[in-house]
Amino acid sequence: MKEPILRFAPSPNGRLHLGHALSALVTWQAAEIFGGTTLLRIEDIDITRCKPEFTEAIFEDLNWLGLSWPEPVLIQSERFEIYAEAANRLRQRDLIYPCYCSRSDIASKAEDTDPDGAPIYPRTCKHLSNQERIERLERGDPVQFRLHTDRAVEEAGMLTFTVIGPTLSDRPQIRYARPQRWGDVVLQRKDIGTSYHLSVVVDDAAQNVTHITRGRDMEAATDIHVLLQMLLGFSTPIYHFHRLLLGDDGQKLAKSKNSKTLADLRSEGWTADDVRRAVGF
Ligand code: GLU
Ligand code: ZN
Repeated sequence: MKEPILRFAPSPNGRLHLGHALSALVTWQAAEIFGGTTLLRIEDIDITRCKPEFTEAIFEDLNWLGLSWPEPVLIQSERFEIYAEAANRLRQRDLIYPCYCSRSDIASKAEDTDPDGAPIYPRTCKHLSNQERIERLERGDPVQFRLHTDRAVEEAGMLTFTVIGPTLSDRPQIRYARPQRWGDVVLQRKDIGTSYHLSVVVDDAAQNVTHITRGRDMEAATDIHVLLQMLLGFSTPIYHFHRLLLGDDGQKLAKSKNSKTLADLRSEGWTADDVRRAVGF
């Protein structure tokens, strides 16, 4: 059997908080249980929101928690060409199409919402004629590329994946993926030419990741990842979805809500063990 490889993949768009600590600790614990290694990956494709100082801070916070990883760390912002190649493979098979809609175009026409509550793309540009596509390309209109999800699902056939949970010692279960509930997702954004979904799938394969631990808030999005893995000829890792830390308001702890960062807690005198205990370790 292959040696298990896991990954912790934070985005450096702010300082880490307790929710990240929980996620990291679950990942390193899973690596220990499965007898594998955890890699670190910096998910900084969103170059307007991510900052190098936050990447440095991630290293510092994880070290402080006593976690370690092999070098080199994979940095997504160095890999835009690789993501573009993967998208081109899908383009050659006519599995993605250009879309020129703005957020408000979509919001005004959408009839359904996806599992995250965002409007499902009403497929306005799916049927643009070649003539229109050429004209818009020549005009240089900002373009994003979307997955022909129905076509892709048809091509991929039955989509199943293995989930371990709710605890890491539970017996693996087979689950069906239903990517259709996301509609025609964007794989190449207008601003950065890639997307979270595309980059994460390409890099999990590039790093030979065998087991993915992530929060339950990412459970539904995994359906898209399983579809992309199938289309791109990658193997599908085993997944574990961990609990989320909730704030006092019962909502997920989010950086945007100013929950205290690990750095804040550290300067208030917390130790790494205090953090472990606070998140249930
Ligand atoms: N980069 C994502 C985040 O910080 C998670 C990565 C993943 O599990 O795919 O939420
Ligand atoms: Zn469109």
